[in-house]
Amino acid sequence: MTARIIDGKALAVQVKQEVRREVEKLSAAGITPGLAVVLVGDDPASRIYVRNKQKNCEELGIISEVYHLPATTGEEELKALVGRLNKDPKINGILVQLPLPAPLREEEVTLLINPEKDVDGFHPMNLGRLLRGEEGIRPCTPAGIMALIKASGVEVTGRECVVVGRSNIVGKPVAQLLLQEHGTVTICHSRTKDLAAITSRAEILVVAVGKAGLIDGTMIKPGAVVIDVGMNRLPTGKVVGDVDFSSAVEVAGAITPVPGGVGPMTIAMLMKNTVMAALAQNGAKFGKD
Ligand code: NDP
Repeated sequence: MTARIIDGKALAVQVKQEVRREVEKLSAAGITPGLAVVLVGDDPASRIYVRNKQKNCEELGIISEVYHLPATTGEEELKALVGRLNKDPKINGILVQLPLPAPLREEEVTLLINPEKDVDGFHPMNLGRLLRGEEGIRPCTPAGIMALIKASGVEVTGRECVVVGRSNIVGKPVAQLLLQEHGTVTICHSRTKDLAAITSRAEILVVAVGKAGLIDGTMIKPGAVVIDVGMNRLPTGKVVGDVDFSSAVEVAGAITPVPGGVGPMTIAMLMKNTVMAALAQNGAKFGKD
């Protein structure tokens, strides 16, 4: 039996419809949510991501302001811009596109964003709230992964969950979200011994490494839910995940494709975070009248 495909594109459309409804409610109250995106340098992938974010904002009626600064921008200049955006009432969300060119320090810049406007959810205050199980802005990719798992129809409670990768932007926060949903969570990384033995136990397997085909069907428990976060561009130009799809789809119960899985959900969650921030800054909550 082959796995059910968890359609991230379709789910992202649904999330964006909910976001649009919230934008309309805000608009009726005379408020238009605003997202500021700061891009430093000319990394081609970052430029594509920023353009995509702008396009999504336009579709949903969110104001987007893009600040494209040269790669030579100093930390003080960047800090001054973030400081201005923090005070700008038209701007509800601020996002500094990562990676930043050296010698700019990502942690220093992230720290300056007002946590209420930190729609990437990378500020230590928001990560701390996540760790403590308190309300706060959740990082977009992990939030999207949780929505995809929910869409698979599998309850997290009591399940054996394995996360491969421990980055601050994907692996660690998604592990924390799974824990919050009462999963039994194991995190693997580059020093893990016998990765296959651990991944084969997983009823829910999230892979966020950045190595094409690291996980194949022999490393997956039959019937497992597999979320492939990886985005790896092959020399042919094709983009593939960290999971070898053709062997995994024969074993898993449900699986996300690449592209069309986690990627579209990340951007949908950014839109949702921006509108949630706008609502919170105006004393309201997403999905509540
Ligand atoms: P990082 O490079 O920050 O982290 C990779 C993690 O993988 C590290 O924790 C590393 O371990 C671990 N790792 C490396 N090699 C192995 C191995 N052989 N076995 C087990 N673990 C290993 O990556 P990110 O978390 O930022 O991104 C991961 C992937 O997800 C990338 O392909 C990225 O492009 C993609 N991505 C996709 C997004 C989307 O929207 N679709 C959003 C964000 C990322 P250690 O800590 O020990 O070094």
